Amino acid sequence: MKKYIISAFAISSLLVFNNCKKNDIKNCIDIPIVGFSLSDDVSLGAQTAAQIDADAAQFPLVDSVSKPTAYRILYKIRNKILNSGKVKHKDDFPWRLRIINDPNTQNAFCTPGGFIYVYTGLIKVLDNESQLAGVMGHEMGHADLRHSVTTIMNENGVGLLLSIATGGNPGALTTMANQLRGLKNSRCHEIQADESSVLYLAATDYPCNSAGAFFEKIVASGAQTPPEILSTHPDPGNRVENINKKAGDVGCSTNRTPTNDEYTLLKRELGVL
Ligand SMILES: [Zn+2]
Repeated sequence: MKKYIISAFAISSLLVFNNCKKNDIKNCIDIPIVGFSLSDDVSLGAQTAAQIDADAAQFPLVDSVSKPTAYRILYKIRNKILNSGKVKHKDDFPWRLRIINDPNTQNAFCTPGGFIYVYTGLIKVLDNESQLAGVMGHEMGHADLRHSVTTIMNENGVGLLLSIATGGNPGALTTMANQLRGLKNSRCHEIQADESSVLYLAATDYPCNSAGAFFEKIVASGAQTPPEILSTHPDPGNRVENINKKAGDVGCSTNRTPTNDEYTLLKRELGVL
């Protein structure tokens, strides 16, 4: 039986913040982030990542020394996205990447400050690098647009963030790192992350609407509990439609084949071929 775990960023319903109106999914009305710097994003992400890395039972990490080819291929995909010229905080965040060895979990996520995690189960179910690039672009987009920090600020107010940023509340950053483990993105943030994926991939050799190809793939797989990327409304069909519309607006290529797709090699080394 397939196992789907709630991602570190799939969120408890108590914490869901959603400013989006039914027909206004693209206009997130978020309070601007004040007093919480980009380096604070990295500190928060690093603490969350440290918790994940220390929890080998829930997050068994693939060793980069024993699986160098897998990491090389994922770094290649990540770097194509980072070198797109469209990642706003390319040089502000570390964009560290880890693979989680769980072939039954179809998921990926990225903490604030750019700590990326990809499950072997996601790699297993996808067909090529382009689909994975579409998902990674989406997850990196959440961090680049500072969605989780925005959501926490809207939930807790600016005061908590200010106290953390000024060092006056040393325990609060740890508390927030814990809170992030149960946080869920709003639907307008999902749409924004989808569109970030299109923008990032537009400047790579991957089809720029590859996040949509992922949706179609994951829905066809019959996932009962959706991964983070599908965790909120609107439904996947509308998401694909919106992704394709964004690709049309941008005028980017949706049918190209990237050179040197090494996806079979990636699957083989991770044992999910
Ligand atoms: Zn998402």
